[in-house]
Amino acid sequence: MAHLDVVVADITTLAVDAIVNAANNSLLGGGGVDGAIHRAAGPELLEACRPLGGCDTGKAKITPGFNLPARYVIHTVGPVWQGGDDGEPQLLASCYRESLLLAEAHACASVAFPAISCGVYGYPLEAAVAVAVASVREQLPQCLSIERVSFVCFDEKVARCYEAALGA
Ligand code: ADP
Repeated sequence: MAHLDVVVADITTLAVDAIVNAANNSLLGGGGVDGAIHRAAGPELLEACRPLGGCDTGKAKITPGFNLPARYVIHTVGPVWQGGDDGEPQLLASCYRESLLLAEAHACASVAFPAISCGVYGYPLEAAVAVAVASVREQLPQCLSIERVSFVCFDEKVARCYEAALGA
């Protein structure tokens, strides 16, 4: 099975086959990691996203990476935290699953995820990390091209949380 690791980095700097974007339903850019990815990829990314017609929560769509070192950007839309009884865990798990399926369909060997929904979407960190790790582990046996999945953290606190979940 693929190797899972934790990386403290700006996801826009990673030379992997695909980075995942925590986008919003419009796919037309936003703040946080989405804004950083659009800035680093350049305006062609927005032009590639426009005809995609947005993206439902829990689903994913793929574009080239343009000026990024990554070949592809997989845009997925995490759930906004509403207290946990509104299907948030299932939707978040679906983001990881759908993103890996797209990566596999494009023969990617390395994929890097940010902590989807853990910024302005307000998903509690430990709960989100548990869903992320479980969903990736469940999906990987179906993804034969994928050799490495990185959980990319902007800060050490998030990294420690992933390390604990991966160790468990
Ligand atoms: P969401 O709207 O899904 O909550 P955010 O972009 O607000 O998405 O935050 C998701 C996570 O991505 C947060 O943990 C945030 O700290 C992190 N993040 C923000 N910018 C970057 C970046 N350039 N590289 C990696 N992670 C980032």
